[in-house]
Amino acid sequence: MKTLNSILSLRSLITDWKRQQMSIAFVPTMGNLHKGHLELIKAAKEKSDKVVVSIFVNPTQFSEGEDFENYPRTQQQDIKTLVTYDVDLLFLPLIEEIYHSEAKTMITVADISNLHCGKMRKAHFSGVATIVCKLLNIVQPDRIFLGEKDFQQLAIIRLMVRDLNIAVIIDSVKIIRETDGLAMSSRNGYLTAEQRKIAPNLYQGLCNAADKIKQNLQSFREIEQQQQCVLINLGFKVDYFSICRANDLLFADKNDKELVILAAVTLGKPRLIDNIYIKRWS
Ligand code: AMP
Repeated sequence: MKTLNSILSLRSLITDWKRQQMSIAFVPTMGNLHKGHLELIKAAKEKSDKVVVSIFVNPTQFSEGEDFENYPRTQQQDIKTLVTYDVDLLFLPLIEEIYHSEAKTMITVADISNLHCGKMRKAHFSGVATIVCKLLNIVQPDRIFLGEKDFQQLAIIRLMVRDLNIAVIIDSVKIIRETDGLAMSSRNGYLTAEQRKIAPNLYQGLCNAADKIKQNLQSFREIEQQQQCVLINLGFKVDYFSICRANDLLFADKNDKELVILAAVTLGKPRLIDNIYIKRWS
């Protein structure tokens, strides 16, 4: 595996690969790799000749008081993992390589970026859209692999790619979970042993809500309220628990066929997000 820190050297290698007609898949990450990330890499390998992974803890998607400084950085371990997964190129830039000190441009995908996580984390999705756009410009891959774990992020990137005519195919990968249902996340490491036992109830709450939607006995707003109460009683602070339309993430009603239940909670220090996608036939 080649590890490169500079845009110039990365571009030169990619140009070389493209000259040889090789297809390129890109998996952007913030590191502290777990099985969720590795599933993206596996999927990327299946669909392309070369796989590029980036590890970059992107400062612009963290707001004041969030965990940018303390975000888990496990570079040496990550490099070993990527070598065993036979990744072709790791892009490991410094902040100065990515952001000009007098940068004036940020990308904002309107409306959807202000919903759900965007309500609490005002600049977050603008930071995400900007870094993904920059990385796509730098790497110029044929395909980008993104996790459904970050459902709102995925929806925002889809809109950005559409609106800015970025020539890339987006492949999404299902959520990878621990055996007890907790969605894998770099932030799970912040959980204490006690909180770790409680954490899978978030997924359980989503499953219960999904069952209730299928039973069709209660309104969506009632189901949301009920599940929020259950989570609060278990010790979660619930930021939102919302049954939404999968396409635009606005609140869904009973006529909608493609739904996603989106939830974000804090449990002690970490903020956990999770979701369930539901397709209804009747
Ligand atoms: P991150 O390093 O948290 O920025 O995540 C990098 C990519 O991995 C994103 O596309 C995430 O959606 C994806 N990802 C993170 N956790 C999971 C998971 N548990 N299952 C599937 N994909 C994931």
